[in-house]
Amino acid sequence: MEYCELKKLLKFSLKEKEIINQLDIPEDAFLPLIFSIRFGGDWSVSKNSRKTMAIKEKVTRYDDEKKLGYTLEKVYLFLNPHILKEDGTVYRLEKCSTKNERELVKRPYRVLVGGDYILEATLDPLDFKIRLKKIETALEFTGSSAYGVSHEMEHLDQGKIEGKPFWEFEYEIEK
Ligand SMILES: [Zn+2]
Repeated sequence: MEYCELKKLLKFSLKEKEIINQLDIPEDAFLPLIFSIRFGGDWSVSKNSRKTMAIKEKVTRYDDEKKLGYTLEKVYLFLNPHILKEDGTVYRLEKCSTKNERELVKRPYRVLVGGDYILEATLDPLDFKIRLKKIETALEFTGSSAYGVSHEMEHLDQGKIEGKPFWEFEYEIEK
């Protein structure tokens, strides 16, 4: 890494620390959000009795005439998340970062999630801002973000993901 990039990274990290202090939440509770921003995806961390989870949602806005668009990312950070309501069942293959192979799991299609503290981070690729906003109500997720919530909650509650490995499938040639 070049010197000026290193300096920017250091500045970014210092600013991050400052923001965490201002938000008035424990520093390690911010970790899943940091991971989501730096590495992408959903994350959860369980430490002592405190559970934290970050769920990432992506929305692409595209102008067909100008042929130009951008993907807005929203990351929701939950402190001690809990499922208030879930709805529907979706069978799907998932790859967990702690395992080598994909597994067949069952997820809800829609979930309503509450928490002791909820923070929304919006990453705007056009103006280089990460906007943070405290959320006062429970949040509803559908589809892929609902699967993400269910996956991370399973990590927090059970420690690991239980599913059927891909080799339970059988090839078949259609006639
Ligand atoms: Zn996982």
